[in-house]
Amino acid sequence: MKMHTQYTDSTAPPCFECESGALRPIQKDYITQLKGRNTITIKKVPMLRCDQCGDTVIGGEGNDQIENELRRI
Ligand SMILES: [Zn+2]
Repeated sequence: MKMHTQYTDSTAPPCFECESGALRPIQKDYITQLKGRNTITIKKVPMLRCDQCGDTVIGGEGNDQIENELRRI
């Protein structure tokens, strides 16, 4: 049994910024720059976006995807 609290897609967690919005799952291109390298774009990274203030949060799944892509390069 997992001890971590995990949000599923059906329950949107509250926004950390405005605390009135709900974080909705979206997919967005993530653009980053490595030291001494070109800018790279990682496509369709799962993120959460607030439906009130528009703040975006990259969750664990998105971070994993970004890390995997960066490791590949
Ligand atoms: Zn918000």
